[in-house]
Amino acid sequence: MKDYVLKATAFDGEVRAYAIKSTNTVEEARERQDTWATASAALGRTITITAMLGVMLKDNAKLTVKLEGNGPIGAVIADANDKGEVRGYVINPHVDFESNAQGKLDVRRAVGGTEGTLSVVKDLGLRNHFTGQVPIVSGEVSEDFTYYLANSEQIPSAVGAGVLVNPDHSILAAGGFIIQMLPGASDETIAKVEKQIEEIAPISQLIQEGKTPEEVLTLLVGEEGKLNILENMPVQFSCPCSKERLSTAISGLGNEEIDAMIKEDHGATATCHFCNEVYTFSIDELRALKSS
Ligand code: ZN
Repeated sequence: MKDYVLKATAFDGEVRAYAIKSTNTVEEARERQDTWATASAALGRTITITAMLGVMLKDNAKLTVKLEGNGPIGAVIADANDKGEVRGYVINPHVDFESNAQGKLDVRRAVGGTEGTLSVVKDLGLRNHFTGQVPIVSGEVSEDFTYYLANSEQIPSAVGAGVLVNPDHSILAAGGFIIQMLPGASDETIAKVEKQIEEIAPISQLIQEGKTPEEVLTLLVGEEGKLNILENMPVQFSCPCSKERLSTAISGLGNEEIDAMIKEDHGATATCHFCNEVYTFSIDELRALKSS
């Protein structure tokens, strides 16, 4: 099954709901970054939630998420657009620990307890930016985004994201959901949804069992919620980097800097943080990038 995200409403429009299966997307990120299990879980949860935040946008808008705690992975960076394209990386991919007391990958330890910040920058086009920042309250990622949505965007939300890793470090299952209470949601609806969320199995387990995002959302809102699916969008790991884009960046460094690359390094090599693609520039190529 390919990765995709669903947008839906429930309870006659009192609730907005998103669910995603992101196993292949997280696996591609893991392969490209060579993340170890605990880092894969931190990166995978962040990518999964960022993809859902991305499809909440419209008109070619995009967003960048930075989860920066004081743990050994350094920071998790992810960005996504309104077309289901997402990418991400961690500063230190080779992080893995024993499972925590709940038998789960110890993401909190990798991200770093409660010291640090979660920031979200939305590029809404026409130089219109929105920036929100909150302190890290958990380090488990999902709870941090729940806190962000409630405090920075003022939308009461429940966020879940999970990643299961195989013994060979490949990704077994990844997925997530976001449930939001819209203005006017009744106390009764809120109580029902909260109860469902409490009772549902972990999202990574549901995805591993083969549950589709439709089935996950039905479990979350219950039969009574009368799920109304608005859109189904494919999700994939996608990095728009290219040698051309990098050339523009090198040109921007100025002639002095380019001359130094030619004289001292006899060329230039750059690696994209997001996809690990390596770009090399020969002396002749660097010369061509100098402004006359
Ligand atoms: Zn790239």
